Amino acid sequence: LIELDRDHWIHPVASYRGHEKAGVRVLRSAKGATITDAEGRQLIDGFAGLWCVNAGYGQESIVEAAANQMRELAYATGYFGLGSEPAIRLAAELAERAPGDLKRVYFTLGGSDAVDSTVRFIRYYQQARGKPQKDQFISIEQGYHGSSTVGAGLTALPAFHAGFGVPYDWQHKIPSHYTYRNPVGSDPAAVIAASLAALKAKVDEVGGAERVAAFYCEPIQGSGGVLVPPPGWVKAMRDLCAELDILFVADEVITGFGRTGPLFACEDEGIVPDLMTTAKGLTSGYVPMGAVLMSQKVYDVIADGSGAAAVGHGYTYSAHPVSAAVGLEVLRLYENGLLENGRKAGARLMAGLESLSDHPLVGEVRGRGMLAAVELVTDKAKKTPLPAASAPAQRVFDRAWNNGLVIRAFGNGVLGYAPPLCCTEAEIDAIVERTRKTLDETLA
Ligand code: PMP
Repeated sequence: LIELDRDHWIHPVASYRGHEKAGVRVLRSAKGATITDAEGRQLIDGFAGLWCVNAGYGQESIVEAAANQMRELAYATGYFGLGSEPAIRLAAELAERAPGDLKRVYFTLGGSDAVDSTVRFIRYYQQARGKPQKDQFISIEQGYHGSSTVGAGLTALPAFHAGFGVPYDWQHKIPSHYTYRNPVGSDPAAVIAASLAALKAKVDEVGGAERVAAFYCEPIQGSGGVLVPPPGWVKAMRDLCAELDILFVADEVITGFGRTGPLFACEDEGIVPDLMTTAKGLTSGYVPMGAVLMSQKVYDVIADGSGAAAVGHGYTYSAHPVSAAVGLEVLRLYENGLLENGRKAGARLMAGLESLSDHPLVGEVRGRGMLAAVELVTDKAKKTPLPAASAPAQRVFDRAWNNGLVIRAFGNGVLGYAPPLCCTEAEIDAIVERTRKTLDETLA
């Protein structure tokens, strides 16, 4: 397998260059929060795959739901006015649970195409209300909104831009609220004021609010290194957008489905966005699916005379009935104890990681619920980041692996945590203990 992989498979992102030397690590099976590799090594998956296996692996009821749906109706398109029962029910159940008037659901295959779809919907919306000149989009540095070219343009991480002419000239960024290294310091009021001023300045720079269509943000920036904004930041930005007649898009691809505690992180913030993007935890990684949740207000504007929205794009696998059946079962699990377990486990995880704060390599511990990060530094007082190349982070990843723990090691020395919500107390404690051991070995 290692040779076949080396010769043929082009891996995404390829941040772990260890592949070339040591070869691919083949995963064989998984149950709950534990994965087993091809050599029989058991590891706790502290990252739920790629922040997605919220329900944990090998959940029989999800497997049953998928298999039953495959037997009954393996495929149905949403084109030609057709549909399937699970897709209709899932749309309705999401609308029922989503904040405020997010009553309309557009299914995609994942997060990137959900983000792409919002850009189209927002252009339709601004055109339909006679404001076609509102065609500029603003997002945040250190933000991540996908790998498709439009999503990659809204993404601020430079690795996703190389060679494609993105961001496009209609995609703009403001600085992140990243408090640990924020030049305005970590005082919440100062960080909020700086972000509000930055958004206003960017709006002016691109020609005023009459040119700006939408603002995108993650309630907690994930791929940028789990950057948690100060309390009130999301609400302040949402309110400014409303005041300026700029649509507010909450990208909940990571934060949605219990990752931070409630079903959606917007509930923590007490806000209702105009559009919300979701994926990952929606089907918990068992099958691909994403969904755009759209406010009734936006929908009514883009709907044609018959009340149906004229949407100019879709995918062969939009609203796939097997994905929808999985989504319905995963929702049922969230409400039958998974969200509650995630909230308890999340509090334990945060407390456990906080206990590592005194470690000489730990600059900051941050997060909310089952979404956390430990930022490593070589000098705590000076906040000196680990050397920029990915090699030191790769070594931390390798050591954690050898200690039976899978975590994300970002190139800048930030360790990311997003365990399955089904984790037991013992598993959470093991994640913390194995991290401590890994840090001690890194220091030695
Ligand atoms: N938005 C956010 C906030 C994400 O974290 C991601 C994926 N990490 C995406 C969009 C893209 O989702 P996908 O990889 O499913 O296309």
